[in-house]
Amino acid sequence: MQYISTRGSAPALDFESAVLAGLASDGGLYVPAELPQFDRATIASFAGMNYPQLAFAVMRPFVAGALNDAELRCLIEASYADFRHPATAPLVQLDHNLWLLELFHGPTLAFKDFALQFLGRLLDLILQRRGQRAVIMGATSGDTGSAAIEGCRRCANADIFILHPHQRISAVQRRQMTTVRADNVHNIAVRGSFDDCQNIVKASFADSSFLPADRQLVAVNSINWARIMAQIVYYFYAAVALGVGQREIAFAVPTGNFGDMFAGYLAHRMGLPVARLVVATNANDILHRCFSANDYSLQPPEPTLSPSMDIMISSNFERLLFDLYDRDAVKVADLMAGFKRDGKLSLSDTAMHRLRALFASQRLADSEMLEVIAEQHRQTGYLLDPHSAIGVAAGRHYQAQAVDLPMVCLATAHPAKFPQAAAEAGLAEAAALPPHLSDLLERAERYEVLDCDTAQIQAYIAERLCAAV
Ligand SMILES: *Cc1c(COP(=O)(O)O)cnc(C)c1O
Repeated sequence: MQYISTRGSAPALDFESAVLAGLASDGGLYVPAELPQFDRATIASFAGMNYPQLAFAVMRPFVAGALNDAELRCLIEASYADFRHPATAPLVQLDHNLWLLELFHGPTLAFKDFALQFLGRLLDLILQRRGQRAVIMGATSGDTGSAAIEGCRRCANADIFILHPHQRISAVQRRQMTTVRADNVHNIAVRGSFDDCQNIVKASFADSSFLPADRQLVAVNSINWARIMAQIVYYFYAAVALGVGQREIAFAVPTGNFGDMFAGYLAHRMGLPVARLVVATNANDILHRCFSANDYSLQPPEPTLSPSMDIMISSNFERLLFDLYDRDAVKVADLMAGFKRDGKLSLSDTAMHRLRALFASQRLADSEMLEVIAEQHRQTGYLLDPHSAIGVAAGRHYQAQAVDLPMVCLATAHPAKFPQAAAEAGLAEAAALPPHLSDLLERAERYEVLDCDTAQIQAYIAERLCAAV
């Protein structure tokens, strides 16, 4: 399968090259040139498959020509073997017609494991085959870093460097990264903010001459197509488990960079009978403003109790724009240039109309989110993490004002990852870490604190690369 850029002037790439490239050379994002289609009979035939079997069926057309069946099967089996629930992505019923899809049974307790466990192994296979070594570099304000490290720690062909803002992430989040013992894993605490970390990473991708010529720099953030691809699977999994076919279904998704929600959109485009996608945001609500009032404009960041959704610009929204404008790359490049210049963009009437035919949106302030956590716990004894609580609230809100569709809310993190929210909801005792992490706070840490200085950090990285084999 070929992959094309949303801005139209980068070359089309095959799957392997699209995964290694991350961002396209024209600044756009790679999307599949055409989407595989699953008809109702095929979707019905998915009933009874376990998660790895379904993942194989859904991902196979996307990797055609790049991975053979045995390779894909092997990657999938290994990626989901460490998940701590036999169903991998279990459904829990919260109410009449309301379900929670628990996506936090992976090694780092967040849904990002679904994509990064797969991507780490995929990269290693691609690099091995090419006889190439890579450097993976990323900035994190929390969940991405630990999921990326867990996914890439066994990569024989890559070194991974994750930058986090020194003393500005939680102890649990830091320790999930810094207690990993692997020679190719490097944590750098930058004396600065998350944006500073992000800027150093961006500058490094723009000019990677600090690395030896034989090392390619690879991005594992959600602009990487393979991450989106792996996330399409659980939308099918949930829908099939609920007997979709007889009826349509809706999803509510706590959203930051729009990667997870875009995967749901693709499931719909591939033939899954999804009647509604509800985008749930916290106070950083650029998407809610866009979906409800055609106002996609930058506003100052606001720290919240759901930090993994504290995002100013939702990078993957560009992939949706591409479709809303009939895959007109010139138009998308134009819109994105305008956004870069003015800090805002507005959609045409046709695009807004299409958007609203499928999507709804909802914004929740911290205080409302805390009420949802407390109320859900009171009603059912179930403890939601702050991100998942925002999704549940949005799902309920939509159900109350529209037809009573079966609603699946995505639970993106384990409540123990965000003990502050549980405490503020009056439920501190309820959020214990699962057994495999219960000694996390006693394990030895390894990380370097460096000044916010691009050249110094690049030199540090260049000195620590594992030798080529
Ligand atoms: C990353 C993350 C999100 C947001 O996902 P996007 O794909 O960026 O929209 C939501 N919840 C949690 C817990 C996350 O880690």
